[in-house]
Amino acid sequence: MTPTPSPQRIGIIGAGTMGSGIALTALYAGYHVVLQDVVPPMLDRARGYLEKFLTRKNLQDRLAQVTLTTELADLAACDVVIEAAPEDLSLKQDLFSRLAGLCAPETILATNTSTLSVTAIAAAVERPERVAGMHFFNPAPVLPLVEVVQAAQTSPQTVEAVVDLAEAMGKTPVVTRDTPGFIVNRVARPFYGEALRLLGENVASHEEIDWAVQLGGGFRMGPFQLMDLIGIDINAGAMKSMYEQTFGEPRYRPHWIQVQMTQAGRLGRKTGQGFYTYAEGAPPITPPTPPEVGENAGTLIVSAGSWAPGLSGLCERSGYTLVGHAIPEMTPLAGLVLKGKDEGALQAAVELDATLPPSVPLLCQCADVSLIEIAAQLDYPETLVGFDGLFFTNGVLATLVETPFLAGHARQAAESFVRSLGRVPLWIPDSPGLILPRIVGMLINEAAFAVLDRVADADTIDLAMRLGVSYPKGLVAWGREIGFGRVLAVLEHLRAEYGEERYRACRLLREWARMERFS
Ligand code: NAD
Repeated sequence: MTPTPSPQRIGIIGAGTMGSGIALTALYAGYHVVLQDVVPPMLDRARGYLEKFLTRKNLQDRLAQVTLTTELADLAACDVVIEAAPEDLSLKQDLFSRLAGLCAPETILATNTSTLSVTAIAAAVERPERVAGMHFFNPAPVLPLVEVVQAAQTSPQTVEAVVDLAEAMGKTPVVTRDTPGFIVNRVARPFYGEALRLLGENVASHEEIDWAVQLGGGFRMGPFQLMDLIGIDINAGAMKSMYEQTFGEPRYRPHWIQVQMTQAGRLGRKTGQGFYTYAEGAPPITPPTPPEVGENAGTLIVSAGSWAPGLSGLCERSGYTLVGHAIPEMTPLAGLVLKGKDEGALQAAVELDATLPPSVPLLCQCADVSLIEIAAQLDYPETLVGFDGLFFTNGVLATLVETPFLAGHARQAAESFVRSLGRVPLWIPDSPGLILPRIVGMLINEAAFAVLDRVADADTIDLAMRLGVSYPKGLVAWGREIGFGRVLAVLEHLRAEYGEERYRACRLLREWARMERFS
């Protein structure tokens, strides 16, 4: 195959949200654009949109580089065509087979599909080696990522040409194999799926889960805010499509809450009502503000372990004195167990419980262990409080766990302690993996599955999640930072509690956890 010359003229099918965004991106990069849609008012809307944003950048002259048309035949002279028509396989196959008859044999035909098989679309075309996915993210002119999807038939030259085009359009391309959801829409599934389950089980409200994810995990948006933005119907549709394409993989099982909200027409921002209300006059949802770090001179009894990395240091910096198991002369303010199940959390809790005066709360890390199981072994279970050690120092929110028999004074003491460290306390009942270890743990597990399935390599997946959905860290890198062994322990706890395949740990995650012992 002769090398493809750099494209000059880009054809775009569909002048909706994505098509007009991709057109603007191409115009910013200096290309000539032919934008086609079967609905003339969509073309008028697109013209207004392009004019507005080109004028903002003082590039209004570039409007002359756009041809708006209802005729597919007008795309015949384009070097590349990017299709952004509705997400319907037979519609896309029909468009591609017609395009193949109209355009030169070397014209690259790309689809912006989010969930359909690019291989199935390419199958409708003669010379399918020139078909690839070119998956932009919304808003296309703003988000830097483009997934370049290699279908079973796509030639390496086509991949290279689409990668070059994405770069020339100012984007960061990542190459992915044509598997359901590609990288971003697949790896992000647990962000929504686990949040919906937490809500369904009444572990916390949607606002609280969003706060935990944002303030505790450092994510730009919480899962419910994001579902409202994407559209609850669209998100539910993506989940259903992933579930069907993988023949019922339990990790992608849609949740009844999404289905019910779609049936009720509560689709998110676009209908004014989703998990949140967007009507005019609706009270704004403001996350709690973190308290000031207090002046503390109290003593804490600490049973050290590796499950609350950085917490001892944070306590010391906040003015606390840390001692071992011996009771100091002063009555301590709290006892802290920073161990995981395998490190002997239960035994440490029993020992500290025997040491502490009954008025003092005992805080136990419980991301991988049941708090009630610990409580059952203690003399003073009413002073036991659980906490999420893994994410305690990650953000400004600390998840605290209460048992049904928690005494009021212990609750208050634990809460003041957390506030004195500058953290917003969020109380939840005992629940496997709590909020962040469960959501982030399942995200890391999904990233491991994607690496194992050779969707892309670990670095590419990490880059895609940071650029495509603005995650604060790449997931494989995050897993390494938390410790793959700890992520595995959270998953095994979830698996044991739910008894579901959904929570099975990826073989590769186990391998990474074993390898940790050598580093
Ligand atoms: P949209 O509904 O906003 O736009 C689709 C456009 O295609 C409409 O203007 C419609 O008139 C036009 N159209 C319908 N039939 C056509 C035909 N036969 N020929 C030409 N044009 C036709 O949809 P969208 O959100 O822009 O999505 C387009 C594609 O991009 C879908 O495949 C979607 O999965 C994908 N995508 C969407 C997003 C997103 O966030 N919206 C993100 C990434 C990818």
